[in-house]
Amino acid sequence: MLPLVALVGRPNVGKSTLFNALTRTRDALVHDEPGVTRDRNYGICRLTPERPFVLVDTGGIGGEEEGLAGATARQSRAAAEEADLVLFVVDGREGPSSLDDELMQWLRRHSRPTLLVVNKTDGIDARQAIAEFSRYGFDDASAVSSAHRTGIDDLLDDVLARL
Ligand code: GDP
Ligand code: MG
Repeated sequence: MLPLVALVGRPNVGKSTLFNALTRTRDALVHDEPGVTRDRNYGICRLTPERPFVLVDTGGIGGEEEGLAGATARQSRAAAEEADLVLFVVDGREGPSSLDDELMQWLRRHSRPTLLVVNKTDGIDARQAIAEFSRYGFDDASAVSSAHRTGIDDLLDDVLARL
């Protein structure tokens, strides 16, 4: 069975864009409107041909507990709980938000192996962007631009090192 990697993060940080960059598909629905991804979306990353892994794009863990949003949150939590590795995706332009803090608390409680992925670092100082998230206590983090496909190779190295 292929290892399972889950993309977790608040809406609009670029999870689906990263999913597409890693699976080289346009399967994941990318949209400016927060919360557009409503279900789990699976794909296979074959950018590391000798060690492919399954990637799941989640619709967000935080937020409402009722209706469609609640169902999405439950799906996302289930995906993160069963994953071999969680990629905690954050927005390097906006810096940490209270929703990121909540997600971080949830991730700590569930203690799945987790990598911090600071996205949207195109055109900004990547090291500074990573430093903004130092309070989350990650030893190292990957700075990427999913839209421009930069930092992806280093991210894949980090992923494979933990699978
Ligand atoms: P999701 O809600 O976390 O799945 O986020 P999406 O993948 O739908 O992206 C939300 C918005 O951020 C879209 O307008 C994307 O084009 C934009 N976006 C995603 N990745 C990047 C990036 O690396 N750089 C920049 N500048 N914008 C990005
Ligand atoms: Mg999405």
